[in-house]
Amino acid sequence: MPRRRTKTLAEAAPKPHQKVCEAAGCRLPGEFRAPLARDRLNEYRWFCLEHVREYNKKWDYFAGLDAEAIEQHIRADTTWRRPVWPLGGRRSGGPHVHDPLGLADDAGLGEKPPPKMDGSEQLTMAEREALEVLELSWPLTRADLKTRYKALVKLHHPDANGGARAAEEKLKEINAAYSTLRASENVRAA
Ligand SMILES: [Zn+2]
Repeated sequence: MPRRRTKTLAEAAPKPHQKVCEAAGCRLPGEFRAPLARDRLNEYRWFCLEHVREYNKKWDYFAGLDAEAIEQHIRADTTWRRPVWPLGGRRSGGPHVHDPLGLADDAGLGEKPPPKMDGSEQLTMAEREALEVLELSWPLTRADLKTRYKALVKLHHPDANGGARAAEEKLKEINAAYSTLRASENVRAA
């Protein structure tokens, strides 16, 4: 079992200065980058979280590749990322595909966890604590996470608690937990 690499939020979302989401009409900070094209992975567009998700969904990363080429991309991906595809032996070396946004997952090819494993054994200590803070159980989908987060923010927002210091602290804790799980590769996209 390869050592799991945990992405920090800072890695997943580098903080550029003064970037604004490129989606039409959106004024949120453009904190998340998306590659321009498969053969131009070092050139980026910048979006807010909502719009980078949308962009990734629409963008067919594997367009124009045949099955063998797609598999090669996926194998290369597993050399630095948790191998989510049961493709047998891993090959070291080979092309290095940087996939910080889980684009391969968005292509619908990463939805096959090994049998009899719910993924919880992969969770880091931070992820387990985050689940506790948000009072969530495993397994968890991104949709569940978002719904729970929104509910908790409403409940603990200082504005809804007369600006109470305790609410502010609790909200910070909730935000940190949400960031941890939002950046987690263990949380299913569905
Ligand atoms: Zn946006």
